[in-house]
Amino acid sequence: MLDTMAPYKPGKAVAAPDGRSYKLSSNETPYDPLPSVVEAIAEGARRIHRYPDPGATRLTEAIAARYSVPPEHVALGAGSVTVAQQLFETVGEPGVEVVYAWRSFEAYPLLADLAGVTSVMVPLAGEDHDLDAMAEAVNDRTRLVFVCNPNNPTGTSVRRGPLEAFLDRVPEHVLVVLDEAYIEYVRDDDFPDGLTLYRDRPNVCVLRTFSKAYGLAGLRVGYMIAQEPVVSAVRKTIIPFAVNHLAQVAAIASLEAEDELLDRVERVVKERTRVRESLLGQGWTVPPTEANFVWLRLGGRTLDFAAACAAEGVAVRPFAEEGVRVSIGSPEANDAFLAAAASFAAK
Ligand SMILES: *Cc1c(COP(=O)(O)O)cnc(C)c1O
Repeated sequence: MLDTMAPYKPGKAVAAPDGRSYKLSSNETPYDPLPSVVEAIAEGARRIHRYPDPGATRLTEAIAARYSVPPEHVALGAGSVTVAQQLFETVGEPGVEVVYAWRSFEAYPLLADLAGVTSVMVPLAGEDHDLDAMAEAVNDRTRLVFVCNPNNPTGTSVRRGPLEAFLDRVPEHVLVVLDEAYIEYVRDDDFPDGLTLYRDRPNVCVLRTFSKAYGLAGLRVGYMIAQEPVVSAVRKTIIPFAVNHLAQVAAIASLEAEDELLDRVERVVKERTRVRESLLGQGWTVPPTEANFVWLRLGGRTLDFAAACAAEGVAVRPFAEEGVRVSIGSPEANDAFLAAAASFAAK
């Protein structure tokens, strides 16, 4: 099995001949960590000779308070990818099927393979989840369904009405995972909030992360919110001490500095509008995006486009023969990308 598995490909960094380098390949925030968060980490460093709090009690309570849910509805992990892995572990036995859209988040097939379950990949309809086809793909063997909302890498989102209709069709033995890694960037009023949906649906859970909008990608901390039976099952699968002490204190400090962080998110959202409109003006087709990236379906031109961006010092994320995902960065990085796209279009 391991011999045939493709490893996860992290976003790469590149540099132009003059040394300019912009990393728009991993959907990170363009901003440096907040001073208050760095201070909390420095203070926390004084305790790293001790094991972290295994239950991450303070962070769990801070998340519960922030979202007005009981602490028993919160499960933490070393990044939400790890929580997703724990979900796969809870259902992982031979013969089990997991349904998700494709293309979507690259970790899903990897985690399915690692857990020894069968991936049922339902092709996107255009750039969107095909919820009808996904509902039809669910059968007696299905235990998990992932809905990546907004979808990585297309940036598109499933709206409230269609999602609720889909959830009504999914049988109760199937857990529906709403992967909301980019929720803070969403501005569509009709976007479904998983934290509302999970309350009266015991088979719905929500994954969120401190890696993207909160700028803690390097520390690895994410969480799930779900009803108590799901949370207890997932907590049983955690590796002891998975969420380290610095991640715990930084996440708490980030919740305390949330207003400042959400101001930054707002600036990224404004840049997203500017970047997408400039690309449309250059003649590109760019689906509406609710995340901190844009998607260009370039088919056979994908790798050439990525190479042209790399020559200008801009790292983007190519998916060969499909398209390119480009994170929204600083205004300067975005300008460098837009210039590279314009000169590619002119060729
Ligand atoms: C980035 C991302 C995550 C979060 O990953 P972490 O492990 O929390 O860093 C989860 N889901 C999707 C779809 C993502 O793009």
